[in-house]
This record gives sequence, structure tokens and C-alpha cells, in this order.
Amino acid sequence: MSATNLRISLERIAENYQMFVDATKSGSFSSSEVAAVVKADAYGLGVEPIAQTLSKVGCKTYFVAHGFEGRELRAFAPEAKIYVFHGALPNEEELFREYGLIPVVHSFSSLERWRAFSQASGYSDLALQVDTGMNRLGFQPDEFLRLMEDDLLLEGLDIHLIMSHLACGDEVENIKNKKQLGLFKDLMAQRPSWLSHVPLSLANSAGTLLEADYQFDVCRVGIGLYGGNPFSGRANPCSPVVTVETPILQISEIEMGESVSYGGRWTAPRLSRIATVGVGYADGYLRAAGGQGTVAIDGRRVPIVGRITMDLIMIDVTDLSTEAVQVGSLVEMMGETILIDQIADNAETIGYEILTSLGRRYRREYFS
Ligand SMILES: *Cc1c(COP(=O)(O)O)cnc(C)c1O
Repeated sequence: MSATNLRISLERIAENYQMFVDATKSGSFSSSEVAAVVKADAYGLGVEPIAQTLSKVGCKTYFVAHGFEGRELRAFAPEAKIYVFHGALPNEEELFREYGLIPVVHSFSSLERWRAFSQASGYSDLALQVDTGMNRLGFQPDEFLRLMEDDLLLEGLDIHLIMSHLACGDEVENIKNKKQLGLFKDLMAQRPSWLSHVPLSLANSAGTLLEADYQFDVCRVGIGLYGGNPFSGRANPCSPVVTVETPILQISEIEMGESVSYGGRWTAPRLSRIATVGVGYADGYLRAAGGQGTVAIDGRRVPIVGRITMDLIMIDVTDLSTEAVQVGSLVEMMGETILIDQIADNAETIGYEILTSLGRRYRREYFS
């Protein structure tokens, strides 16, 4: 009997990357570059094979959240431009220089620290983030304008990128998108001439596909590469990448009125066949996804019954033939039939959280 497999299609990741590249060619900003966001171990899928795949299909720029993620990535992407969203924390500066990481600087205090380091070390690369409405990280608009007015603040520094981040890109109709776009353009129009050639970046996956206006010079694409839907309430333009399949461990016949799992919250409405599989919330199959949840056997949907437990999930296979469903039969927990965004909806969360929760008990298998 095979163990639980987490299979990751590198070919699909490459196809999804190409889809974003094509999207940047349809607009007027045909020079826009598609950069890959590979923070959190490439959204839980494994940064090494994914960065290698993306590099092969032409990705030259990467974003991570932490300095140590950049250090790890550097081994697999020796030539790449690597930006670090959180910037360089105190005492991390040397790591950035050693691995050629570019910090995204968000505040006057971190700018001052980086400038002091730069003067001492000669390593002067950085990016700037301006906050246009997310209110998470970045210079506030008035701070950014002060920065633009005082040449001394940025003197001697090598600015590779000016970026901002959309708060509602996944909601196509949300007017906040246009507001942020307008503010970003206004602020960028007030750059002094010596900064007018610095590349700009506003879009995540959703922003890239929203409209060409959002693409600017660099698109920072994450979730879509990994097959998650960048949009809420709109069909997913990206192809699924992840498949989790696990064998049935046991099948029991239970009487009508018998309950299944902790708390006995599900009772059999008829004589039922219940199959148990060895995946649970410790594997990232969120407990909250159980209620409406389904899995699939040979492409046929089968409901999850009873509470999801740490290591095991029960499913009702009464409607499937006993030949089709046996101990050892493979059950698709997520994949082509059971989309990660559907599981996310069931748990009232988003595909990002499903991916980054996948856990360490799976054998990750990559194929192209
Ligand atoms: C995570 C992140 C992205 C990528 O967003 P997706 O929606 O996954 O494409 C882009 N920019 C910033 C600042 C991020 O934190």
C-alpha cells in the first residue's frame, strides 16, 4: 500500500508562470517582468525545485519575506535578483550583503540603519515600499513625498525598485483597487528626475490579471503560480498544481443511527459504508473544512462525515460499488477534482492558507 503522496506538478507551475507572462504582453506595458513570490517555502510547496523550474523558464527576480529565506533561495538561484519584503532586521545587514539580497525598506528608521550599513560596507542595494492603502508595511504617502524631496536621505543608495501592495486585488470590482492605483501613480509622478527610471511594482497575482494598468515594470506573482485562485468570486485562470492522494486504511459497515468521529455529530441516515483515510488536520486538512467537505475517488465526489481528526478522516462511500472502493483504494484529498479553493471555502479561508498549512508528513514528489 502506498503512503500519502503530495504530488507537485512543476510543469503546471511553469505553465502558470507562462500564463502571467502572456498576460503582461497583452497590455501596453509590454516590458513588464513577471517575478515569482516564493516566500514561506514557495507557499509550502518547496522552494528548491520550484525556483529551479522557474529559473529554467526565464524567471530572474524573486521575492521572499525573510532574510533567511533569501539566503536559502540564493543556493538555487545564484544569478537571480532576490528581494526581501521584511527588509533587513537589525544585525541581518551582513547576511544581505553576503548573499546579495535586496531589502525592501519601509520606514525612515530602517532607511537610516541601511544607509549607515551601506556607507560602512559599500553594499547599497535596496527597494522602497510605499503604503497606498493596505496599511501594513511601507512609507505613508506623506513620508514618501518627504523622501522624494530630500535627496540627502537616499544619497549613495542604489534603489532597484519602488513598490506598493494592493489590499483588495482579489475583488475585481472593489473601488479600492483604482484608488490605490491612482495614488501610486500620483506619488510616482512626484519622483525627482534621478529616480524616474527606477522600476515600479504594484501588482500581485490578481493585480497582474486585473488590468494592464496595474502591471508597471515588475509583477509580483505568488498564489497563481501554485494553482490557487487569485480572485474571489471569479473563475480561476490558473491550473491546479498540487495533488494529495491517500489510500483507504479501513472500511466499516455501520447501522443506521450510528455516529462517526468525535462528538458523534454525524449519524448515519441509513446502513452505511464508512472508509477511513490517514490524513487529518495535522496534515493541514483544516478541521473547519469538514462540514461541507468532499474528497474524490476516481473523479467521483464522496462526502466527509464526522469531525476531521488529527490524523484521520472518515468518508461515506455507501454510494460507490464495493469493487471500486476497497482498502488501499486511492482517495484524492485535493487535486484536479477537489480544488484547494473549494476546501478553503469550506473552511471559510483562502487557498493560500490551505497550501501553507500542508504540513511535513507528506512525501513531496515533484514531476514535470
Ligand atoms: C505575498 C505577496 C505577494 C504575492 O501575492 P499573491 O497574491 O500570492 O500573488 C506580492 N506582494 C507582496 C508584498 C506580498 O506580501
